[in-house]
Amino acid sequence: MIAKRFLRAITQDPYPRATTALLAATLAVLIDLIFRFSEYQDLSHVLPVVGAMKFSGVLTLVFLQVVALFYLILLLPGSLRTVAILLSVFVVVAQFSYWVTLSQFMTGTDLFLVLTVGADTLGEAILSFRDTLIFLYALPYVLVLFILLRVPLRSTFRKSLALSVLPAFTLLASNYVLFLHVPERHFHLNPLTSFIRTTLHYEFETLREYHGPRDDLPAFHASQRPLDSIIYVIDESVRGSNLSLNGYPRATTPFLQSLETQGRLKNLGICVAAGSFSHISNAYLVTGHNAFPDDAFRTDKNPTLFDYAKKMGYETIYIDIDNGYLFPLRKAAREGPVRSLDRWMNEQSFKERHIDLEAMKDVGIARFLSSLLNEGGGYFVLVNKKGLHFHYRNRYPDDPAFTTWKPVMEVSEPIDLSPTGREKLVNTYDNGIHFEVDEFFRVFVSETTNQNYVILYTSDHGQTLAEQGQVYTHMKPDKVIVDVPEFLVVGERYGQKTLLTGIPPGIRVSHLNNFATLLDLMGVPMSLRVRPYDKSIFSLTAEDNRVRYYMTGSLRGFGDYVVSMIPTPPDEGWGLSRPVDNGPKSE
Ligand SMILES: [Zn+2]
Repeated sequence: MIAKRFLRAITQDPYPRATTALLAATLAVLIDLIFRFSEYQDLSHVLPVVGAMKFSGVLTLVFLQVVALFYLILLLPGSLRTVAILLSVFVVVAQFSYWVTLSQFMTGTDLFLVLTVGADTLGEAILSFRDTLIFLYALPYVLVLFILLRVPLRSTFRKSLALSVLPAFTLLASNYVLFLHVPERHFHLNPLTSFIRTTLHYEFETLREYHGPRDDLPAFHASQRPLDSIIYVIDESVRGSNLSLNGYPRATTPFLQSLETQGRLKNLGICVAAGSFSHISNAYLVTGHNAFPDDAFRTDKNPTLFDYAKKMGYETIYIDIDNGYLFPLRKAAREGPVRSLDRWMNEQSFKERHIDLEAMKDVGIARFLSSLLNEGGGYFVLVNKKGLHFHYRNRYPDDPAFTTWKPVMEVSEPIDLSPTGREKLVNTYDNGIHFEVDEFFRVFVSETTNQNYVILYTSDHGQTLAEQGQVYTHMKPDKVIVDVPEFLVVGERYGQKTLLTGIPPGIRVSHLNNFATLLDLMGVPMSLRVRPYDKSIFSLTAEDNRVRYYMTGSLRGFGDYVVSMIPTPPDEGWGLSRPVDNGPKSE
């Protein structure tokens, strides 16, 4: 009865659209405040930093945005309005699943990742949502949205179009103001307008991007093709402290340890990754940039590793199984060939060679690398491995020989924070490390007959393994996420083997040291190096890298980003990982 009277009151109002938009917006804003109260409490902490004027200004702006958006929806005729509302419901559910998983709504960076490197993150966020909590959050919202269906449309198309100008302009202009002045993470209030904000943020960022060519290297002519090969392996989601090579109590990497005993592996300990997700780390690793964030577009302007390798006479190959960085490189090259890159290989390239990467995982890549080297030398190969992206159970075969630690998670089981859940999570991850890291090297080393090679190995970032109750695996500023492995492996006939013995003990490495390390391995003269790169591993001393920086969020520093650091000595427990042992199961 009350609802009916309410609806009648609205429909008989002289300005039914404006009144409904205002009422529904008030309800929507209140619902958000009630259901995500803790979020708003957190917001009050930024109040002293941001200032009361700015704070209330932003809150008002967000409210106006909701009104404008609802008004725009009300201007749509029947079926279009239904479509708009269904789309809004989808956005609300997606936003709440992000929020439940990552404690934030989607950011411009997330949207960028979804649009470029595939829906991995979105998939992870949506698959790892644990319960019906999301629907609990979304339901009141959906009910408010359905109020919008009940208001009749009386205007003509022309009139609706004219009426839509002001609210559309409000959305555009207010979001541009937010883009310029308010960090995304601080004011992600309403799920719907946040999504619009994020979309526009992404567009504004794209408009500002650098679209020119990369810097050129000075003229140089290599006298001949080098005899050695350099392989740079950037693994995916491998946490350094879960390798027994780094003291982990389970034998996850026995083969690597045997290589170390033979003097063919130089372990550099726990390295600090440049970023908490693939895109940032790869941008820094491939271009040697060394300041955070990259607001000067140096990762788009610097010459790449391929440029240097090509100059030194190497044949350059990029194996990009993880869609790690090729997309931005190709985009910068306007879909044309990537400068100085002779060959790039993705999953499709392996399919054409009848190498089934799904069944063999990264071992298929190891075999390919062996066969490449066995035919000759002079290659520079950059590999973005598939590695151990969640879900870990997909990353090693069903063969019981590779299920060393049990019980394990099911293929698509979400992260469960109970003690048993964590035990399974870590067991599954450790089995994955054993296969994707140790077995990868075992196959490569034992099948490669041409022994003149060097491998520099690291991972793009690590994983949380839910130690502090995180339901996310990476992408956030947690220090544990930048704990990655780093080591060099050489063939028995590698010409510069002595370089390894020259590395002083006790150095601390960061991703930022890798670029110059590779230039040293290629033999690039100082006169060719056009940027002030961080020191190579071969020149690091125990005095360097007392503080190791990394970042997360927007690479360009537009709005939402965080720069953090690993001090020396690190916080207690950093660089350490332990299996979960719940002891014998009691009845
Ligand atoms: Zn990654």
